[in-house]
Amino acid sequence: MKKRGRFAPTPSGHLHLGNAWTALLSWWQIRSEGGEYVLRIEDIDKARSKPEYAAQLVEDLLWLGIDWDEGPDRGGPCAPYRQSEREERYDDALRRLLQDGWLYPCYCSRSELMKIASAPHGLGSEGPVYPGNCRRLSADEQAEKAAVKVPSMRFAMPDEPLGFVDLLAGRQETVAGSGGDFVVKRADGMFGYQLAVVLDDAAMGITDVLRGYDLLCSTPRQLWLYAALGLKPPQFAHVPLLCGPDGQRLSKRDKSLTLAAIREAGTGAEEVVGQLAWLGGLVERPERMTAREMIGAFDLAKVPSDPVAVSESLLRRLAGE
Ligand code: GLU
Repeated sequence: MKKRGRFAPTPSGHLHLGNAWTALLSWWQIRSEGGEYVLRIEDIDKARSKPEYAAQLVEDLLWLGIDWDEGPDRGGPCAPYRQSEREERYDDALRRLLQDGWLYPCYCSRSELMKIASAPHGLGSEGPVYPGNCRRLSADEQAEKAAVKVPSMRFAMPDEPLGFVDLLAGRQETVAGSGGDFVVKRADGMFGYQLAVVLDDAAMGITDVLRGYDLLCSTPRQLWLYAALGLKPPQFAHVPLLCGPDGQRLSKRDKSLTLAAIREAGTGAEEVVGQLAWLGGLVERPERMTAREMIGAFDLAKVPSDPVAVSESLLRRLAGE
């Protein structure tokens, strides 16, 4: 079977060095096996997403040397490639999940959820664990609440552990109900990331998802969604995040590390690609190279599984200082 991978950015800011790192690794993983690559814009959160950012990220990726066979700019058999245009599909799936008993309405208010967030039973890595208040409502209680409030819809995590093998992070054993019941559609109509990403990866025939380590904790939820929907999950590889000399993850907030700023500072794409390939353990020395030149040298087994620190001098150099 032909491999199919994707880069699925949220256009809520400019792409930064950390995004370039995951995008390149994912693209190399697929292209090194002669596979097909998809660009999908995850603009489901309309308040945070901006078309200018989506347009800019296409420019930035092309500048880096990444190309794709299907995407919002060029279409393809799985179009549309913008999540904001796929909502009917999410609604259909939601109806199916509801019929099959996987979802329940949640009437908890923001302030009730805030209280949960500060309660001692803790913050999961995916945010506060929802203690299941509305899962236990009787039909009468539900009807009473439904008369005065539009609910969000939550996925009821099964009470069973779930294990999976991540190509980089290794075998993962997660506890029953891992992360708690999560929202698949908010009361204001916005669909949740977990539902949309699962449906789109499945609909687009994605065989391999390579993304940042911060999303490893979302994977059990997504695997349960695949199971509930009767869909085959892709193979996952969660790559370490890039962090600064202070050990903190590079973030969208650090303006000097956006690809737009790096370009403006006069740094060439080949410099960025060479440095990232070197940080990824794929080459002996950080020499300039094009993204395409690295395809043949890609080997996921060489990519480190611990956070990768970017030195102060490299950050300065990329920022043209
Ligand atoms: N849209 C997500 C993000 O920008 C990535 C989703 C994924 O790779 O699963 O962080």
